[in-house]
Amino acid sequence: MAVIGIMSAMHEELAAVLAHMPDEQRVSVAGRDFFVGHWHGHALVAVLSRIGKVAAATTATVLLERFGVDQLVFTGVAGGLGADVRVGDVVVATKCVQHDMDASPLFAPHEVPLYGRAFFDTDLPLSVQLAQASEAVLQHAEQHLGQAAMAEFALKAPQVHQGLVLSGDRFVSTSAESQALRQRFPAAMAVEMEGAAVAQVCFDFGVPFAALRTISDRADDTAHADFNQFIGAVASRYSLAILSGWLGQTRPVKA
Ligand code: SAH
Repeated sequence: MAVIGIMSAMHEELAAVLAHMPDEQRVSVAGRDFFVGHWHGHALVAVLSRIGKVAAATTATVLLERFGVDQLVFTGVAGGLGADVRVGDVVVATKCVQHDMDASPLFAPHEVPLYGRAFFDTDLPLSVQLAQASEAVLQHAEQHLGQAAMAEFALKAPQVHQGLVLSGDRFVSTSAESQALRQRFPAAMAVEMEGAAVAQVCFDFGVPFAALRTISDRADDTAHADFNQFIGAVASRYSLAILSGWLGQTRPVKA
């Protein structure tokens, strides 16, 4: 059976997934705990991504090389950059780029040296499936989050977006920086700290990759507010419901 790798950026997200993998076995590699088991009849390996590009790339490499996963799905939170990308929305990445990669003038700005590209595509069929699963969850957001959480974070009719996601080794928490990123990447939907690194590793291994992010902040001067509370009350619930909906509707693929 094909094996699905799930990388969660947040402890709470991973804990929610593990609660549905009753048979999981823990295998420790490179200081990381990988949980091997099943969910909805799929063979899975779930792991905490760790934060930042290098840490996430190492985790991804172990998932691909040691555990032989056939596709990799990343879940986490991100700062919204697109004008209509609000807290509580979900962004499914179509492309990823490292906004802090710059080997100019030797290479074009943002181009990853020796790859001949700055942008790494996510897998289209996988991303479409995750976007559909996200739509199904967000249409009934109140059912998944409860009225109190909806009110607390002022969530109204949350939306699913698909598009460019930026990654870099910085938590973007000033309006000046997010404005500068928007100017450099007018199509950017969101900014986070891992996706493009994992996309590059999956590109190297020729393994389909998809990334799903709940918007936790607007990458501006208020970006740290209630971050941890939001993850417990909103982001980890969304990730669980979206992954569960997706896996429940997808047949395990023969490897
Ligand atoms: N308190 C957290 C640390 C989060 S670090 C913990 O202890 O786990 C930030 C995480 O949120 C990273 O995974 C990053 O990808 C994502 N993120 C959310 N908003 C972001 C923003 N505005 N800029 C960059 N990364 C952001």
